[in-house]
Amino acid sequence: MEHVDVLIIGAGAAGLFCGSRTARRGRSVRVIDHSKKPGEKIRISGGGRCNFTNLETEASRFLSQNRHFAKSALARYTPWDFCDLMAAHDLSWHEKTLGQLFCDQKSGAVIQMLLDELEAAGGELSLETDVSGIAHADGGFLVDTSSGPIHCDSVIIATGGLSIPKIGASRFAYDIAEQFGHEIVETRPALVPMTFTDDYRDAFSALSGVSLPVEAHAESGPGFVENLLFTHRGLSGPAVLQVSSYWHPGDAVAFDLMPGADPLDWLKTAKDTAPKQTLSQLFSATFPARFADWFLGELDLDKSSRLAALSNQQIDAVAQRLNAWSLRPAGTEGWRTAEVTAGGVATDALSSRTMESKLQPGLFFIGECVDVTGWLGGYNFQWAWASAAAAAEVA
Ligand SMILES: Cc1cc2nc3c(=O)[nH]c(=O)nc-3n(C[C@H](O)[C@H](O)[C@H](O)COP(=O)(O)OP(=O)(O)OC[C@H]3O[C@@H](n4cnc5c(N)ncnc54)[C@H](O)[C@@H]3O)c2cc1C
Repeated sequence: MEHVDVLIIGAGAAGLFCGSRTARRGRSVRVIDHSKKPGEKIRISGGGRCNFTNLETEASRFLSQNRHFAKSALARYTPWDFCDLMAAHDLSWHEKTLGQLFCDQKSGAVIQMLLDELEAAGGELSLETDVSGIAHADGGFLVDTSSGPIHCDSVIIATGGLSIPKIGASRFAYDIAEQFGHEIVETRPALVPMTFTDDYRDAFSALSGVSLPVEAHAESGPGFVENLLFTHRGLSGPAVLQVSSYWHPGDAVAFDLMPGADPLDWLKTAKDTAPKQTLSQLFSATFPARFADWFLGELDLDKSSRLAALSNQQIDAVAQRLNAWSLRPAGTEGWRTAEVTAGGVATDALSSRTMESKLQPGLFFIGECVDVTGWLGGYNFQWAWASAAAAAEVA
């Protein structure tokens, strides 16, 4: 029977990176994946340019039942460590907004870098290989695969979460975790567009393509100042993707449509200085015209009314709606388009230093399958690299 020191299941961001770092320690390593190609999510990430990290990485930018869990791994493998690796492979990058680093080359270059690292370290990769079971045996693990049984000292689960099933996502990590006695924090599609029914669905579809800066809030969680985008199915754009991670069915989301400004002051000043201006003229000068027209109807205002005709009570009401336009989404687009999975293998039975199971020595969980979910903007890859590096130190 084949024996390797370390078997890694899942050849995505975390699994490939963990493979090279573990092999570099002199361990024999095999990475297996049921898909035809490795790192498919890296390929489609960041619009094809892989937003591979974020310079503002810190534990507060991650959702988890234990918000301290990610600190140790993130502190020991930083965004700059990954930049050094990229530079060593002649890859370059640029910063977009908010500390987000994107590859100058196509994302395929990041996959190739990870494959080159794995090969140079002596690690092996087996694609199109299914795993039908893992048992603890002879002080190690016996893993049944479609290419035969493999015995290993350590097994690292790096099979990711549930998002985008059509490119290979499975609940494998959660099933194995439960088999060994781990709890699973309820999984939810995250970083995902939100959907609406009835009037709002039709209205948003008609506004499809319109985008505006907002500060978005879920009922719990921080505010995000980013763009809101109307789509044929509902709402998307970075602001909505960010709050979707904090949203639970039935909750409302609120948008401040004039982030950083005071709508009451804006309306009062406009009325004082240009009383003959129509509401349509005022709103179209500040918001995209299609949205301005529709939103005045949503506020029950006649767009051809002059500002002079607005009562103080109306001004207060409009300012309030601009400050907190509250909507109750019907749902999200779900696993089909979610960028990540919130929830996952509960962190209380994992070592925050090494990602090893406290219930089954030699078993590790890394990357997205763990209950650590980053904000939009490169945080999820940084967690994949950092958790992989942590496991690779000891596996
Ligand atoms: C469209 C999109 C864009 C994204 N853009 C970004 C971005 O720009 N920046 C960022 O930080 N994050 C981004 N993400 C999130 C990021 O891709 C993930 O967080 C990251 O890939 C997680 O790494 P992972 O190795 O844990 O899992 P994955 O990369 O999902 O890898 C898991 C691997 O396990 C394999 N696998 C699954 N089940 C099995 C099984 N039963 N047996 C064998 N193998 C299995 C899969 O085939 C896959 O290769 C994006 C996600 C999507 C969907």
